[in-house]
Amino acid sequence: MSLGHDTEMALVGAVELVNTSPAVRGTEGLGDLAALASFVSARDISEVSSLTDSDLVAVHRVRAKLAAILAELADLAELANVASASTAINALIAEAGTTPRLTDHDGYPLHIHYFTPGARLAEHLAADCGMALAHLLTAGEADRVGRCAAPDCHRLLIDFSRNRSRRYCDERTCGNRIHVAAYRQRRRASAG
Ligand SMILES: [Zn+2]
Ligand SMILES: [Zn+2]
Repeated sequence: MSLGHDTEMALVGAVELVNTSPAVRGTEGLGDLAALASFVSARDISEVSSLTDSDLVAVHRVRAKLAAILAELADLAELANVASASTAINALIAEAGTTPRLTDHDGYPLHIHYFTPGARLAEHLAADCGMALAHLLTAGEADRVGRCAAPDCHRLLIDFSRNRSRRYCDERTCGNRIHVAAYRQRRRASAG
């Protein structure tokens, strides 16, 4: 797949943002400004000025829109059936406003930022995650969005593996947990 590293990183960011929501993880993962600030630094999001409570509210709103789009893509039965997701992505990008520009900040290779310089964090995320989703759809790769296969996990995932073999949101946590459970079950069955 040739979406480009920055597009892939924006898509991972969108999935991680949605995975902070209470509907996905049971509790609010972005409950205060400290949590929002650590999300920003963990994702290495650039050009973020001081964060306020209104940023938190706005990010929650963008997260809800991304959650609806990603859930729709994860549940796609027919890959060609992206009309409604396309409409939602267009609305997200239009609302955010964009100023595409080339940049090589902080030692990253040349890539395109879509958010308008000086944009608040929520518009930044809406513009760049929205454009990354637009690239994913135009590449015909919408089925890369999926859900973790662990039965008690509601996290979304994006699968960039060549053979689309990714099943868990995180191999070290959910993947490992399911493998251990399956191993124990086999042991019990053979002992039984
Ligand atoms: Zn950048
Ligand atoms: Zn999981």
